[in-house]
Amino acid sequence: MRHDTDVLLNEERVFKPGQEIVDVLHVKDWELEIEKGKDIEKYWAEKAEQFVWFKKWDKILDDSNEPFYKWFVNGKINMAYNAVDRWIETDKRNQVAVLYVNERGHEKKLTYYELYREVNKFANALKNLGVKKGDVVSTYLPMCPELMVALLACTKIGAIHSVVYSGLSVGSFVERINDCNAKILITADGTFRRGKIIDLKRVSDEAMLQCPTVETVVVVKHTGIPIEMSELSGREIFYETLIEGEPAELEAEEMDAEDPLFILYTSGSTGKPKGVLHTTAGYMVGVATTLNNVFNIHDGDLWWCTGDIGWITGHSFLLYGPLLLGTTTLVYEGAPDYPNPGAWWAVVEKYGVTKLYTAPTAIRHLMRFGSKYPSLYNLSSLKILGTVGEPINPEAWMWFYKNVGKEKCPIMDTWWQTETGMHMISPLPIAPLKPGSATMALPGVDADVVDDEGNPVPVGKGGLLVIKKPWPAMFRTLYNDKEKFINTYWKEVPGCVYTAGDIARKDKDGYFWIQGRSDDVLKIAGHRIGTSEVESAFVSHPAVVEAAVIGKSDPIKGEVIKAFVILKEGYQLKTQLIEELSRHVRYELGPVAVLGQIKQVDSLPKTRSGKIMRRVLRARDRGEDVGDISTLEE
Ligand code: ATP
Ligand code: MG
Repeated sequence: MRHDTDVLLNEERVFKPGQEIVDVLHVKDWELEIEKGKDIEKYWAEKAEQFVWFKKWDKILDDSNEPFYKWFVNGKINMAYNAVDRWIETDKRNQVAVLYVNERGHEKKLTYYELYREVNKFANALKNLGVKKGDVVSTYLPMCPELMVALLACTKIGAIHSVVYSGLSVGSFVERINDCNAKILITADGTFRRGKIIDLKRVSDEAMLQCPTVETVVVVKHTGIPIEMSELSGREIFYETLIEGEPAELEAEEMDAEDPLFILYTSGSTGKPKGVLHTTAGYMVGVATTLNNVFNIHDGDLWWCTGDIGWITGHSFLLYGPLLLGTTTLVYEGAPDYPNPGAWWAVVEKYGVTKLYTAPTAIRHLMRFGSKYPSLYNLSSLKILGTVGEPINPEAWMWFYKNVGKEKCPIMDTWWQTETGMHMISPLPIAPLKPGSATMALPGVDADVVDDEGNPVPVGKGGLLVIKKPWPAMFRTLYNDKEKFINTYWKEVPGCVYTAGDIARKDKDGYFWIQGRSDDVLKIAGHRIGTSEVESAFVSHPAVVEAAVIGKSDPIKGEVIKAFVILKEGYQLKTQLIEELSRHVRYELGPVAVLGQIKQVDSLPKTRSGKIMRRVLRARDRGEDVGDISTLEE
């Protein structure tokens, strides 16, 4: 199969960090750090030294059974100990670890010491419920401190957690619980959403009728709405009741470096979500290191990752990463535009957020309302910004840079996946930035763009994005599906090379530009074109805030582009604008980008983690079955 792609869009703008940022960087020499990272074993071993081990590893990397790699072989460690316990011996003891804020303006703070006590109580309670090392505990919880406590409690006793995103419907919820034979479910009465309270307990009640392995359901009183507890089954208990009288102390379970840590599903953008298994030590070292390198975490930081804990971003960079670095992590329950499109900026101002990590979808959404909202708030506490989830269109990057970062905050465009666990391709704050490029592979990561034979593609061409050497936070398998693990990720290219499923190109400076998903490539008159460049060309027109493109079959060209566009308030897609957009896109991309049809829409099908699902647009357009849409946003 052919995998090369064409390069149509060139972005020439470059932005460098100001002296204020540079002065406080841990890594001031980007090239040198990348050079050090070329000896991957040495690099990651040095990073691993910074944690507390019960027993040090015998071997850094075992690659004798590719692609089933092992890291820090025979090392013994506990991640919850490293994320919480060790800080209470330091002057971070009374520092806020978790700052919870919701759309109603309610807040709750837990210091490291309070978090430690809470985790221990809940961990003791789980043990009393018969949970042992290796058992699976599932959660169906909103963004709340108890979710963080629950996951840390699992990690502390060696139970494997499997978070079900709280927006999923009964069917996908049941499927996930039964897939991993969860013994315990932790849920809540409800969640706050746009001024309403969504009843979670009812969904979970319905699901539990079909989940025979769940012995106990723990219910958090989060919103305070009245709910019915089922007396009959005897398997439901309130969180508060459960932890009452539990000791606030507990020895951390000694875990092997390769013991399973959690199971988590991918977003389902390109097909049925895949259950990814992560293990303990490598994940811990990879996540903490990349967060520290990319966001330069410091004393006094207030870190805010807007991703949900139901997805990998929340696992790695809302919960574990920031706590492993001993910083304060903000967890926000609410939408970016409720009660108004200034909601997030109000949070930044009120609490003095220093590092903000979000998604292109949120930025594009907020762009619709113009620059007015960010300008109403004092955002001067912000130092570094970041994005993840999709390619960021250069125009969205510029909007974020100017209106939120006030041209002072570097934007870290981080490319990574549920499978990679940690950031993989991303700038460090010292890097000269080009809007829309994730820049380089991080120190300790060996990424490249190759053709179907596995040869690097030349500048001016795109191809498959691959990772050529193992990395510590890599997933170890797809849960219950070794075959799929091998076939999906390790067979596309000769040699033991990880194929990410994305296409990319590198420019003359070696910067990576993600062009989109391999599955979404457009095939026009012998050219293969990634979706992101075409969509970015649309978004760079002042009338367009968001665009998604698919290939539509054409008797002459093979395919032509069909674009779905969301326009800024006040614009209508009339003949004149259609002509103007066609001209604009042709000007930006050249004659290869043949436009077939432009359609104005109010919304695009997205996953609940905010990614455009082009396969849904394609299937609908062709009148085909849409496939698995369990993660489709309503
Ligand atoms: P599925 O694998 O089920 O189709 P998914 O790939 O969307 O879902 P995730 O693991 O949540 O599931 O997302 C990883 C993907 O997100 C990457 O493969 C890439 O396509 C996209 N992505 C993440 N960050 C970036 C980024 N900074 N730039 C471009 N694309 C990104
Ligand atoms: Mg994927």
